[in-house]
Amino acid sequence: MKKINILDRNIYNRIAAGEVVDRPYSAVKELIENSIDAGATDIEIYVENGGRQLIKIVDNGCGIERDDLPAAFAPHATSKISKVEDLDDVKTLGFRGEALASISAISKVEIVSVTAGNAAWKITCDGGNVGQISPAALGKGTVISVRNLFYNTPVRAKFLKTDKKEEADITNFVTRYILGNTSISFKYYVDGELVLQSFGGGLDEAVAQVYGAKTLSQCYKIDAEKDGFKVSGFIGNQNFFKPNKTYQSVFLNGRYIVNNTIATAINNAYASYMMKRQFPFYVLNIGVSGDFVDVNVHPNKADVRFLDNRRVFGAVYSVVSSVLDGTVKAADFVVGEKRIPEIKSTSGECVNKIYSQPETAPLVMPYEKISEKPTSVAANDLPQSQDFDPTRDLTFNDYMPKQSVAEMTVTDGTVLPSIENYGLFKAEKEFREKERETQQKIDCKSCKFRGSLFDTYLLYEVGETVYLIDQHAAHERLIYDELRKKMRERNIVRQPMLIPYIFSVNSVEAQFLESNLQLLRSMGFGLSVFGYCSFRVDEVPVNLQDIDIGAFMDEILAQISSLKSVSVEDILKDKIATCACKHAVKGGMRLTEQEVDALFEMLDGNIGLKCPHGRPVCVALAKRDIEKMFKRIV
Ligand code: ADP
Ligand code: MG
Repeated sequence: MKKINILDRNIYNRIAAGEVVDRPYSAVKELIENSIDAGATDIEIYVENGGRQLIKIVDNGCGIERDDLPAAFAPHATSKISKVEDLDDVKTLGFRGEALASISAISKVEIVSVTAGNAAWKITCDGGNVGQISPAALGKGTVISVRNLFYNTPVRAKFLKTDKKEEADITNFVTRYILGNTSISFKYYVDGELVLQSFGGGLDEAVAQVYGAKTLSQCYKIDAEKDGFKVSGFIGNQNFFKPNKTYQSVFLNGRYIVNNTIATAINNAYASYMMKRQFPFYVLNIGVSGDFVDVNVHPNKADVRFLDNRRVFGAVYSVVSSVLDGTVKAADFVVGEKRIPEIKSTSGECVNKIYSQPETAPLVMPYEKISEKPTSVAANDLPQSQDFDPTRDLTFNDYMPKQSVAEMTVTDGTVLPSIENYGLFKAEKEFREKERETQQKIDCKSCKFRGSLFDTYLLYEVGETVYLIDQHAAHERLIYDELRKKMRERNIVRQPMLIPYIFSVNSVEAQFLESNLQLLRSMGFGLSVFGYCSFRVDEVPVNLQDIDIGAFMDEILAQISSLKSVSVEDILKDKIATCACKHAVKGGMRLTEQEVDALFEMLDGNIGLKCPHGRPVCVALAKRDIEKMFKRIV
């Protein structure tokens, strides 16, 4: 046996760093939280090369005393709690005293800080080695610069994503802090450019800054109190949905969390308003007393544990669903213009129409109502956050809204091919499909055209059989096949758009689109980056010029949260089918002889084909069957 060593502090911290700081976004997160804990009202964040080269946070908080500077780098060194009991009611975002120790073990950190009435001081820490304190110049607060993150942990560095991807994940978090700390002004710079800014002017302003002012008009602003919980913020109205879950933020007592109970409650409230592949928009603050919640579940603090999940579920569900359903309570919950007007009769009863259901709507017992809704989850199936495994290392995905098991998440944009679209399986599937359809092939040359019925069905006789070909279905299928082939072969003619389509997305979506830019371009969509988190489409495939480009982009963005590889071909299937349908000859349209011949030639005897909607192209009638009809034979 080897001798047991007490690990050197630097080694220990490098191991611990794996838990708290696994990617640049987590360093940014910890540093911002420190600034918030320090009471800062102004926070500037600078990120270079996806945070790998530099993360710098400038705040105007309380600063660190000169003599405390070395201790800031020590593990389990914190000014936020001092005794075990403090853990039961943590009011700050940090409390473990691990972040700075972890970050400084794997990077080169410099802290410049000043406290009220004192001179400013500077200290450095390089790979865990704390340097000397020296005088510095700073008016207020603290400036922490983290350079060369992971420089001495090459294996971990290898697991980092591209700079763009790391940057997108950082931006995603900065967005969350802006939304969750609306009295703080934030400035966020990426590679020297100011890309996000808020002014500390409250939630309305923060939401407008992050998602655009128009978003506000598509939301309800709520401020409710239910069963001991405060529920406030913005929730999208019944017509405002997003293509994925990246527009959902929940803050618990100011802390950004991802919690299944809350997410399920909100989702269930929206269930009857949402269509497939739509996701609600929300920025919600949940306020709850400290003794009802345990935030000390994991170093990363992504999830929390509630004393009673059902109560949380009930309160959140009840508030959101009453606002959406427009029940009596909604009037108490909705703030501002959207406040639902209350009309009372002389006896004081509510006579407003939208209020008419509340007495029967089981507001206080939401579970019964849930079970009526198609996509809802019974309360018993609710994930208990007690199941949360505190020993498991959290990753970025833990901070992303969860998908249902069926959907599974790959929020880091990794493109995983679905099994059936993959290699052999795909070839096999295509082969079988082809085989099924081509089994029935007739020799065109021996077919005699015998005219058409109702200007729709072309009659061909061969041997003892007569074939009725639906001219529309046949033509539609042929055009469809041709368009698909062109798409597959990337043999697409592009059509410039008169007015380019310009749209904005969030940072996670932007990164996703950028990684699929080449693919979309090769499919004929002239998509290009048009400023920060903005894109422009100026060309579409010529056959799809009527495509609703906004809806199409939403369908692409919906794939962010699925395990499937981005299959533009599949998305375009419907569009191509519509296009084929539009361009095909119609039923009831008289064709010239040449047209009939051309169509039949194109069909090339493939009578087993179906139109893109699944209708048969051709129906065969045996001579025998006709003779039976006339009772010539029995
Ligand atoms: P924790 O936040 O859990 O206490 P950290 O390692 O993040 O642990 O920070 C250690 C300590 O350094 C904090 O408790 C705080 O006293 C001090 N500190 C860190 N960042 C700042 C800052 N921006 N302003 C003031 N004090 C800070
Ligand atoms: Mg901290």
